[in-house]
Amino acid sequence: MPVAPATLTIDLGALAANWRLLHERAAPAECAAVVKADAYGIGIEPAVRTLWAAGCRTFFVAHVSEAKRVKAEAPAATVYVLNGLLPGSAASYLAPELHPVLGSLDEIAEWAAFCVAAGGPRPAAIHVDTGMNRLGLSAKELGELAAGPLIRDFEPALLMSHLVAAEDPADPISAKQIAAFEAARSILPGVPASLANCSGLFLPGRPVHDLARPGYALYGGNPTPGRPNPMRPVVRLEARIVQVREIGPGERVGYNGRWSAPSPRRLATISVGYADGYPRSAGGTDEAAAAGIDRGAALVGGTLCPFVGAVSMDLIVLDVTEAPAKAARRGGTAVLIGDALDLDEVGRRAGTIGYEILTGLGRRYERRYSPMA
Ligand SMILES: *Cc1c(COP(=O)(O)O)cnc(C)c1O
Repeated sequence: MPVAPATLTIDLGALAANWRLLHERAAPAECAAVVKADAYGIGIEPAVRTLWAAGCRTFFVAHVSEAKRVKAEAPAATVYVLNGLLPGSAASYLAPELHPVLGSLDEIAEWAAFCVAAGGPRPAAIHVDTGMNRLGLSAKELGELAAGPLIRDFEPALLMSHLVAAEDPADPISAKQIAAFEAARSILPGVPASLANCSGLFLPGRPVHDLARPGYALYGGNPTPGRPNPMRPVVRLEARIVQVREIGPGERVGYNGRWSAPSPRRLATISVGYADGYPRSAGGTDEAAAAGIDRGAALVGGTLCPFVGAVSMDLIVLDVTEAPAKAARRGGTAVLIGDALDLDEVGRRAGTIGYEILTGLGRRYERRYSPMA
């Protein structure tokens, strides 16, 4: 029996298996791994060690600080920094041999000048915008780049863009983006190309090009929402029940008494709260109950037990009336992520997406990494 109030179990064998599945799907293209945001919350160092051992050689992160952590674990890895080149930051890419993803002509001019001063062309990715309007050159700017002198001062190692709605195969934006990306490729022929995130690998026509960039699905998220999840779960979150109480009809629970018992209920309190990254929006209220809206829940003895009242900083109250008494007791276990409560379901119940649940996983959980399978 674990003594920690809440335990996060991370299955690195499942992470490796998920990468292999995506790698096979991407073949003959290369399959990278996106490990930004501390590998979506599971821990960048164990994730990189596991993925490198599985055969992954290219990694994407958002920040230089994250890229340095990847390089410390896998010195021979190719590491791209997605979030662009901040003014004056080019030198920070040099010694750890990081590749910036350049998303504007200003960034490209700065990287090209840095390369000239540093003695020769260095690799970088060029990000072209195909509809996100967030980062990346327009098609017109890409044309200017291809026709101008700067392209010879650095090494364009990758041409990439990012899909807006790959998880929804019915959204017509993906086809438009794929066509816009093809047009961009014809402006810079011969440069390896990358468009697909994890859901992109499952789109009709598999727009994978030379390199796939999956993130969420590696960590067990469903790249095909609404359809069966092809991935293995990687994270499991369990909390111990601190105490159990009985309340009568009309009694209220938690801050501001947002939920009232419709009948005599049995409640269990667990040591997880919004300070652990569990969204406050998952709290159970009378309004949600009246509207039939699913709220947060945990599994106790296999029974789905809804949250009642507000999610507090450090505590959540569950309605365990329907759960077997031998499980719904002091010291018993409540599963918050795992089994029927997969990441996507937990996100939906909190009014968000599984990505936010995963990347928000708190620092206070006892983390257990199971060895590679
Ligand atoms: C985060 C990110 C990815 C990974 O996306 P997933 O949906 O997690 O697979 C790929 N490419 C870019 C540019 C990203 O920002």
